[in-house]
Amino acid sequence: MTEQAGNGRDSSKKTGFANVKIFDTTLRDGEQSPGMSMNLKEKIEMAKQLERMGVDIIEAGFAISSPGDFISVKTIAETLKDCTVASLARASIEDIDRAWEAVRDAADPRIHLFLATSPLHMEYKLHLTPDKVYEQATAMTAYAKKYCANVEFSAEDATRSDIGFLAKVVEGVIAAGATTVNLPDTVGYTTPEENYRFFLDIRERAPSLNGVVISTHCHNDLGLGVANSLAAIRAGVTQVECTINGIGERAGNAAMEEIVMALYVRKEEYRAETNIITSEITRSSNLLTRITGVKVQPNKAITGENAFAHEAGIHQHGVMQNPLTYEIMTPASVGLKESNLVLGKHSGKHAFGERVKNLGYTLTDAELVTAFEKFKVLADKKKQVYDKDIEAIVAKETVQVPKTFTLKNFVINSGNAITSTAVITLMRDGNRIERVSGGDGPLDAAFKAIDKIIGMDLNLEDYQLNAVTEGEDAMGDALVIIRNKEGAGDDGNVYSGRGLSTDIVEASIYAYINAVNKMYYAEGRR
Ligand code: MN
Repeated sequence: MTEQAGNGRDSSKKTGFANVKIFDTTLRDGEQSPGMSMNLKEKIEMAKQLERMGVDIIEAGFAISSPGDFISVKTIAETLKDCTVASLARASIEDIDRAWEAVRDAADPRIHLFLATSPLHMEYKLHLTPDKVYEQATAMTAYAKKYCANVEFSAEDATRSDIGFLAKVVEGVIAAGATTVNLPDTVGYTTPEENYRFFLDIRERAPSLNGVVISTHCHNDLGLGVANSLAAIRAGVTQVECTINGIGERAGNAAMEEIVMALYVRKEEYRAETNIITSEITRSSNLLTRITGVKVQPNKAITGENAFAHEAGIHQHGVMQNPLTYEIMTPASVGLKESNLVLGKHSGKHAFGERVKNLGYTLTDAELVTAFEKFKVLADKKKQVYDKDIEAIVAKETVQVPKTFTLKNFVINSGNAITSTAVITLMRDGNRIERVSGGDGPLDAAFKAIDKIIGMDLNLEDYQLNAVTEGEDAMGDALVIIRNKEGAGDDGNVYSGRGLSTDIVEASIYAYINAVNKMYYAEGRR
């Protein structure tokens, strides 16, 4: 059973199978969903990981939507070497100009423009007649084509469009130079059977489609995003738009790892394959979770914590006799490794650096020095340092923002018969700033004291504490999400912060300071 073997870039690839391009929109469609915003450094780190896992096209953002988006698309375009980098643009001159400015220095730039073709969207959103939409779609595709050979056109709300009109638009944009045509299920309305028929039908009505890349983009409002994408592949689609863990607008997008593993495990059924290195899936999911602070549901396919756990005794027994009894794919095939003892307090910087490299991280010398110092502190407190601990340290190091504030020390007084108080001392530009606050419990007191230091009243939106590994001496991984009500967004701006320590109060304070530093960085505060 070849499906079980290998780690992704396996030897079982067969010629004659269709190659399906993976278009990742984690940084655009995913990032625009609530609680998923990422800063520039985080986006670059995520983009590098997506490239490492073999994604064909990365949609890095929507260049015209904000100056921050423009800079991140431009930086990602200049950083990546193997992937196509796309920016989204509405079908207008200003949008396309801005998109091109952002992606022009990419190794393989793509402009991705979109215009809605459904009666609902044309009448109520665009206030345009179908003739005007046709005119704008074709004219703007031709305009984008003057800049860029690689142009994708998306007919927004395609699955609810009149198929005759859609075919006309598709023929028009291909004649105008589109090299990829995406027909999205923008509102997550279609079903697998319907999407299958839809793509066969449109290929017949717009035969030029067979000379370009045909793409599907499915949302998950009915929980059918992945199934609809697979049905589209069966109908001849050669590009799938998706996100890590299915993050995205509303109920999200089709989950990349589920599509990839469905094609991998059932390749004879679909007769299609992707270029994804499947053993990078777990790391990509972990990185996204760390950055956004949003956890994956435990029973989520492929990347959920329980996806490979066998609880029932009869199952455990079967798996021990032969994994194939209850496992359709190995944990290793998605990059899930047993947490193993690797290093201790006597390990040197060289051994640590090697281990970090083996885990797939590339750190600068300065980052390695900082990470190694953190490792030594941890190894002193904790008997056994696992891969997960090292990944927690390193992943935090690589997505760090400038440290406007650092923790000097804290004293907390707490108990069930007294009001909690906290004295927090932070350093800023070499100056000590100390404040005292009371609060409902030790963390509330500590967070309020930090608010006093920065002179702001932040809302604590969420707080979570997890153990990185099992055992009494495990590191605590604290997550805080704060909201700056005065921020530029409609409801202010939201920032997540993480902190690691074997002391959970300290981990929580680190997390709060990390979120505050991200706020200072993103809002350009001094
Ligand atoms: Mn979408």
